Amino acid sequence: MNPALWLTRAARLTPRAPALLDGADTVADYEEFARRAAAIAGRLRERYGALPGDRVAIFMPNSVSYIELLYGIWFAGCVAVPINSKLHAREAAWMVSDSGARLVVTSGAKPPAPLACVECATVVSIDEFLGLDTATPGDPQQRNADDIAWLFYTSGTTGRPKGVMITNGNIAAMAMSYFVDVDSVGQRDAILYAAPISHGAGLYNFMFTIRGARHVVPRAETFDPLEIQALAERLDNLCFFAAPTMVRRLVASARQTGFSGAGIRTIVYGGGPMYLSDIKEAVATLGARFVQIYGQGESPMTICALSRDLIADRQGERWETRLGSVGRAHSCVEVRVADDSGQELPRGEIGEVLVRGPTVMKGYWNNPDATEAAIRDGWLWTGDLGEMDTDGFLTLRDRSKDLIISGGTNIYPREVEEVLTAHQSVLEAAVLGEADPEWGEIVVAVVALRQGHSADDDALDGHCVANIARFKRPKRYVYVHELPKNAYGKVLKTELRDLLGHHYPAHSPTSNEGR
Ligand code: AMP
Repeated sequence: MNPALWLTRAARLTPRAPALLDGADTVADYEEFARRAAAIAGRLRERYGALPGDRVAIFMPNSVSYIELLYGIWFAGCVAVPINSKLHAREAAWMVSDSGARLVVTSGAKPPAPLACVECATVVSIDEFLGLDTATPGDPQQRNADDIAWLFYTSGTTGRPKGVMITNGNIAAMAMSYFVDVDSVGQRDAILYAAPISHGAGLYNFMFTIRGARHVVPRAETFDPLEIQALAERLDNLCFFAAPTMVRRLVASARQTGFSGAGIRTIVYGGGPMYLSDIKEAVATLGARFVQIYGQGESPMTICALSRDLIADRQGERWETRLGSVGRAHSCVEVRVADDSGQELPRGEIGEVLVRGPTVMKGYWNNPDATEAAIRDGWLWTGDLGEMDTDGFLTLRDRSKDLIISGGTNIYPREVEEVLTAHQSVLEAAVLGEADPEWGEIVVAVVALRQGHSADDDALDGHCVANIARFKRPKRYVYVHELPKNAYGKVLKTELRDLLGHHYPAHSPTSNEGR
């Protein structure tokens, strides 16, 4: 099994189908795409001595050549190590070195100094792989299902990132599961890379190559709702992954421009909590285009999914409860909520989410201890806490490390965040525990207000008291303009803890007019 096989098959079946689009412009059809990938593989082998199984790191922003390079790497039987271009070059250098990459491909003419210092790897510009003489593709290097295709560095919200070994078999299972549980894909569809290809958004490429569909790379380097709207109107049938913050920005922009979502077929959201009020507003503004996925690098894209119909059907059974869940287990995996010993808990009880099946990673690269801690008896321990209802819908509570224990009682930040974000003046909120001599921990809320709105502690406190148990309500509010997020849009609770400790005095209500 080798993902490059999907490319060569599509090139044979639909050679003239548009494959790669730079903005709205088609720059390669499937035949050309396959030729370019084969030529890149040739160069990797001949000039750089790359052998099957060698790691090739990519440290550059999204572009059409990024996708060509990925397929070139697989064509040669090598392992892709995509690294988010928004990371600091020092962080990237660490990943290159950890992966033992033979080569690291960058976009700039001059490699950033820390990368040039990594001993194992040669730093090469992407220009080395552009405009090569394109011979007939031939066949990709044979690989087994158990061989690694993608070394996926975790976002490292806790400690050092770890290299998740995603095999060809994992990718095949993930792609099949997408067709069964998330969305159908046809040749007229287009996957838009609205987030870094190095992370979750990049994993979507496979299903669209299998179907000979279009790959679209927006011109803007950051998420630009107006460009997406223009591309949707021009290209039609756009599908893309969006983290909850991106959905929120798209919806805010659509409300201003009057965009109805026409031209967008599917928006898959996930990667972090989507609050009820946000998804309701999103569906009301953009229509029945949303599907939710719950996954993690360690079981890429594939733990649970909440379907388009369930999200959009307001009359559906227990609609609101289900909308607040992450859906049901993907068809190819088993999902259970377990106690500390791995025993399945009765429905409705909160415990750690475990998953087992063909999408679960082979392990962490060069890190047997972390692998042993994460995969026990074939079950991946996700580090997420959740509860399963009798119909199999899983509602996530929090990462186990984010749980707050106040006066001996568990408080799940997500529940308090849900309530706060439902307040009309609140744009986003993060809730965390702070050490307290009396209670062990107290609940602290960091809140960003909507532009032009103001709210103070009393208003938010009154809102919380009206909606959740008194002991769960924040004892302290801190107001910021925007929550700190990492390069993947995930709220950085570690950074918030630092902010709380060092910069923000208690009780500092402000209005957010300056946003
Ligand atoms: P990553 O491996 O960086 O993609 O992060 C995976 C983590 O993101 C999961 O373990 C969850 O904590 C979180 N996550 C992913 N999808 C969702 C979702 N749909 N809802 C809430 N949290 C999610």
